[in-house]
Amino acid sequence: MCDITLYCNVKKCRKILNATDDGIIWITRCSHAFCNDDGIHLSTTAAKYVPCPACKTQLDLKHDIVRKETNPSEMWKSTILAGLKPEMIIDIVNRSFSFWYYQMSNENLYQTNLNKHLKYKMLEMKTQYQSEMNKLNSELLLTKQKTQAANQDLENQIRKTQELESLLWEKNRCLQNAQMTVADLQRRQSRML
Ligand SMILES: [Zn+2]
Ligand SMILES: [Zn+2]
Repeated sequence: MCDITLYCNVKKCRKILNATDDGIIWITRCSHAFCNDDGIHLSTTAAKYVPCPACKTQLDLKHDIVRKETNPSEMWKSTILAGLKPEMIIDIVNRSFSFWYYQMSNENLYQTNLNKHLKYKMLEMKTQYQSEMNKLNSELLLTKQKTQAANQDLENQIRKTQELESLLWEKNRCLQNAQMTVADLQRRQSRML
């Protein structure tokens, strides 16, 4: 037996109806199904007519909405159709299948739309992610270029400092030579006196 799930037709609720703890569902003339909470909320209004929460059809509270048990007793199952003519039983069964077909079609449509919405959201997120990644890559490239320029500046400064040190060393050597020459001259001069 296939396991098909019936959901509360209030979009914000969507409680699984076959497995509700209270085992109660509410069915409308327009083939919509609601959980016990939403059914009670719908049936306890003071108005004679209420709009169906799913399709807005005006429902006569006395005749257009019924409360049903999802797990009826064996006695109920044995007697509910007993005594009715076979053609009426077939009519009832056909209507019951029509209800399920309508619910399954709606669920299918809901899942298709949800899928479309999720795909769109994913695409949107992917585009946003790609845009953020492009921005980060641009910033990274800019930082890399700035670092390279700073490194180049540093290398230039080091080279200039090395050149200056070399020049200074040369000047010092000249100065030392000059000082030695002066000292030598002074020594020679003092010997001549
Ligand atoms: Zn509900
Ligand atoms: Zn409806």
